[in-house]
Amino acid sequence: MTFRTALRLAGLIKLAFLAAVIIAGGSGVAAAVPAAAPATAATNAADDSPMPYVLDARVVGDANRVRFIADTSAPLNAAVFALADPYRVVIDLPEVKFVLPDDAGSQGRALISAFRYGVISAGKSRIVIDVTGPVAIDKEFTVPAADGQPARLVVDLVPTTREKFLASVQAYRDTHGAPDTGAGAGAAAPTGDDSKPLIVLDPGHGGIDSGTRGADGTQEKDLVLAFAKVLGEKLVASGRYRIAYTRTDDTYVSLGDRVKIARDQHAALFLSIHVNSFPVGNVRGTIVYTVSDAASDKMAAALAASENQSDELAGVDVKAEDSDQVKDILLDLTQRETRNFGLTFAQALVRHLGRSTMMFKVPHQEASFKVLEAPDVPSALIELGYISNPDDEKQMQSPEWQDKVADSMVGAVDGYFHKETASTDP
Ligand SMILES: [Zn+2]
Repeated sequence: MTFRTALRLAGLIKLAFLAAVIIAGGSGVAAAVPAAAPATAATNAADDSPMPYVLDARVVGDANRVRFIADTSAPLNAAVFALADPYRVVIDLPEVKFVLPDDAGSQGRALISAFRYGVISAGKSRIVIDVTGPVAIDKEFTVPAADGQPARLVVDLVPTTREKFLASVQAYRDTHGAPDTGAGAGAAAPTGDDSKPLIVLDPGHGGIDSGTRGADGTQEKDLVLAFAKVLGEKLVASGRYRIAYTRTDDTYVSLGDRVKIARDQHAALFLSIHVNSFPVGNVRGTIVYTVSDAASDKMAAALAASENQSDELAGVDVKAEDSDQVKDILLDLTQRETRNFGLTFAQALVRHLGRSTMMFKVPHQEASFKVLEAPDVPSALIELGYISNPDDEKQMQSPEWQDKVADSMVGAVDGYFHKETASTDP
């Protein structure tokens, strides 16, 4: 048996194990691996080019030099670059399967504080390394499999000054353009009759950005996608609405692109779907948010800050994106009206949801969520419940709960459109 065959077999065994975990109802990283993976790998066993996988990733070294090493099933073509504020090093790869333990990347070493990995856009994967300060990418290379060792991707980082770091960020952008933001990935075109109002459903996070995580490993990105699909099907089944999603699979979509999808398609309503987390106490319940420059309270401000981090976590250059924002008086007026419609919708949501599930003691709150900033699309964000609370976590995964809560939300959408029509009719 050649080493290559042995490695492939080891990978197959690992994938088969993951499939068993999925069947047994496990989650975490396992859930991110498509259930069809073992079959695909098996079918491709005779093929020379199956989708490569990352088998292990680790950090060695000290404060003078730190080395990130990924063991891979084949040598990978990588683009390595840095991003500032916060300091990050990004490794862009062709699409790979990550077969790593649940907690991989959660603990760093020396100059590296953590790393994340996942799909960034169709056919592309990404690893984002958080670094504790300005670093220089001193070496990056790949090693083919040899002497019983798998192929490797190696990136060496050494400390540098902020000035040199920023210069390297700029130099990379000048030669390569702005890094991939996963633009428009996963957006599904609306279906049905154009005369019906279009509602854009926005399942939060996705791909490299998992969102928050429950005690039993449930990931926000999976939970909110499942719920969005339940809600979307009900809205379509009503025969009164068209539906589009910002993502329909485990792909990352930047916050700006989520807003753009709604604006470009002239959506009548935008609903971002998330789940909450609070480490202290037994906080639970549903909260509906609308956008405001002043947050309801500290907790709302902290939540918005954490949800707004999505692009940073995914290794997107936020500064480059913000530069083309336009502000004028007409836009301000439109925005004020849009915010009022968003508020009306949020109030309808709170009213209807109160009949089917437990609401947080302050069920409607405000904060500056980036994803709610479309000046011309009424928008709201729902935190379905607290994944940090075992009761909420269990309940949000139950089809019965999803069903009744989605029914209430359809009622709120009906109420909103009825009311909106009534109030604009002379
Ligand atoms: Zn979220």
